[in-house]
Amino acid sequence: MARPGVDQVTGGVMPAAFFGHGSPMNALEHNRYTEAWRAFGENVVTPRAILVVSAHWYINASAVTAMARPRTIHDFYGFPDELFAVSYPAPGDPALAQQVTELAHPLWVGLDHDSWGIDHGTWSVLVHAFPDAQVPVVQLAINAAKPLAYHFELGARLAPLREDGVLVVASGNVVHNLGLMDPRRPDSGTDWAQRFDEAARATMTTSPGRIVEAARHDDFGLAVPTPDHFIPLLYLAGLADAAGAGAEVLVDGYAYGSLSMTSYTLGFGPAFDDHETRGAPPLPDMSPDSTNL
Ligand code: ZN
Repeated sequence: MARPGVDQVTGGVMPAAFFGHGSPMNALEHNRYTEAWRAFGENVVTPRAILVVSAHWYINASAVTAMARPRTIHDFYGFPDELFAVSYPAPGDPALAQQVTELAHPLWVGLDHDSWGIDHGTWSVLVHAFPDAQVPVVQLAINAAKPLAYHFELGARLAPLREDGVLVVASGNVVHNLGLMDPRRPDSGTDWAQRFDEAARATMTTSPGRIVEAARHDDFGLAVPTPDHFIPLLYLAGLADAAGAGAEVLVDGYAYGSLSMTSYTLGFGPAFDDHETRGAPPLPDMSPDSTNL
């Protein structure tokens, strides 16, 4: 069977990526973050499938979507109707789902046939990176009951997928504190947000195998009040460590003081020109209780 992701890339190894997805509104916006995601999609060899670890499938189990036709999930509220109208009709890939369960062994990952689909952590990025929605998409849940080291290990176990034409994508935010968002500073980060993001960057680019130690950073509590958006980074770190390589920054920046928008790639080409700042997208409702970034 033809596998373009293997045939066209030198050495047969697909890149991998972590995208800092920020506000769901990024699905509709065009800014320097979404342009970086688009440029990544345009320049990467077309994968045979995309496996996405999304911050927004954060449950008390390890699971992978296994349906042939995953639905588009609009897992947020307080946003415009236009966002609820977004559809990402990519097919699923039940065979890849099965492959993930086998690679994870002895870690256990269950097959989800009917509960989840493609959530906005995934589609807010993929509508830019792969707008045609032709490449099959499988999502991997984040098991909220497991420690950080589990996710790093599971990420490393997925490394063979990169040699099999699968693009592994993680979608979250390195710094993600909804309770401390400040609408008066849409394009900047607080001192603590910058300190933590820069520390994570130093680790990801030079020694990704040590990323779990970020939990001991003085600013971890403020930057990562809940681990859901941070954990996807551990999957890219695991892949990077398995490859013996550092990750590279694709685009970086801050939003509303308490979100970092840093995205990383692994095994991808030189970074794009990200100096053209067009600003972060507006956030319609700044109440922390009414958003679900
Ligand atoms: Zn989010």
